[in-house]
Amino acid sequence: MRHYSLRTMIAVRFALIVLTVILLISIASNILISMQFEKYVGEQQSKEAEEIALNLSHQYDNASGEWNLDYVHGLGMYAMNEGYIIKLYDRNENILWDAQNHDMTLCSQMMDAISNRMQENRPELNGDFVARRFDLRQGKTAIGFLDVSYYSPYYLNENDFQFIEALNRILVAVGIVCLLGAVGMGLILANDIAKPIAKTVEITEQISVGDYSIRFKEGVRTKELFGLSRAVNQMAESLEEQETLRKRLTTDEAHELRTPLANVSSYLEAIIEGVWEPTQERLKSCYDELERISKLVSELERLKQVENENLKLHKTDVDLLELARSVVQNFARQMEDRNLHCDISGEHAVLLIDRGRMQQAITNIVSNAVNYSDENGNIRIVMENRKDVGIIRVEDEGIGIAEGELKLIFERFYRTDKSRSRRTGGAGIGLTIANAIVRAHGGTISAESEVGHGSCFVITLPKG
Ligand code: ADP
Repeated sequence: MRHYSLRTMIAVRFALIVLTVILLISIASNILISMQFEKYVGEQQSKEAEEIALNLSHQYDNASGEWNLDYVHGLGMYAMNEGYIIKLYDRNENILWDAQNHDMTLCSQMMDAISNRMQENRPELNGDFVARRFDLRQGKTAIGFLDVSYYSPYYLNENDFQFIEALNRILVAVGIVCLLGAVGMGLILANDIAKPIAKTVEITEQISVGDYSIRFKEGVRTKELFGLSRAVNQMAESLEEQETLRKRLTTDEAHELRTPLANVSSYLEAIIEGVWEPTQERLKSCYDELERISKLVSELERLKQVENENLKLHKTDVDLLELARSVVQNFARQMEDRNLHCDISGEHAVLLIDRGRMQQAITNIVSNAVNYSDENGNIRIVMENRKDVGIIRVEDEGIGIAEGELKLIFERFYRTDKSRSRRTGGAGIGLTIANAIVRAHGGTISAESEVGHGSCFVITLPKG
């Protein structure tokens, strides 16, 4: 299929619309002229003939029974010039004055000129000179007859034709101006539309080859196109972010495994080469590193399980408040060691959920609250039972999370720089697992935080 540019398409369509409008206006105005103007002219001509008859009837002197033939002659010649050929009879039908007899040549010239002009311009009228007879009277006395011949149904003189021609010329001129205007406007409009679209194509092409840095910079005035440019920019931005994150996470992932492996192998190497004695303490630290790796691997396995789309949930009625209490109990020792205080409050909310999995999700969040709290800190867990949802809120007064990192913490292996310096031992998978479990239940997790003041994680679970 052949593709045309937007400019061509819009300009051609605009031109077509204008052409159609001009054509319709021309047809309408021509119909109006032939129906109204020409009808009007026909009526005028009929009136004019009556006027001539009336004028002539005044030229009869009733007393003497004589016609003022000089005036009749003058009027007859004037009428001939206007296209009316008159023939005046007395009451006995004797010809008194006949334009044709009087000046045959001029008369024929006149009639031919009118006939030719009308035949040429209005052949469809099929007109001809037709005589109309008037009975001339003065009061009640019949004084004669008058034949007035003129081109019927009507005729147009030079001026009339010039008027119609001028009108048509104006229409054509207006048409041309409108056409040029329309094409110009079409091109401007097409330009306005085409530019952002072309830029969108350019950006998406660049993105498809892995360059995410390109953005819309020009301002776009059209609302919809502005929306498009903003959406494209957002898409490019989030793809860029994802790409950076992906690279960072791949590095982190390798790092998480490499560090303990490197530690174990250097310890063992030193022991094998006899540099180090295989003391219990050294073997223990090898063992700890291996534990970290195996913990990481089992977390990854768990993540794989919960991220499986066909994750089977064994749902039973579970009271969230009780569940949270049992989770917190498992952290009693850790909290005591660091003198943390945990307060659980709120309503009982019984929901149909997979107890084991949800315990895991809450554990991961409470575990973070414990790990990232400073000594003597407070943790608050509040349960809310709403009409359609159950809500668990876990608040701590710990190190907090920077605004820019909030949306990243649910990504696998993501750990904030602050948490790294703490060496909590986490690999950045806990929240990913919690998020997957909550999502599998049709719920959501969100986080709010302020660096240095603490964080608040909110799990919202639908009922039923
Ligand atoms: P980790 O095992 O490292 O804790 P998570 O997936 O549970 O991994 O959390 C991801 C990152 O989010 C953590 O490394 C930490 O930087 C940050 N984070 C999560 N919970 C908290 C919290 N309560 N306070 C401060 N930072 C937190």
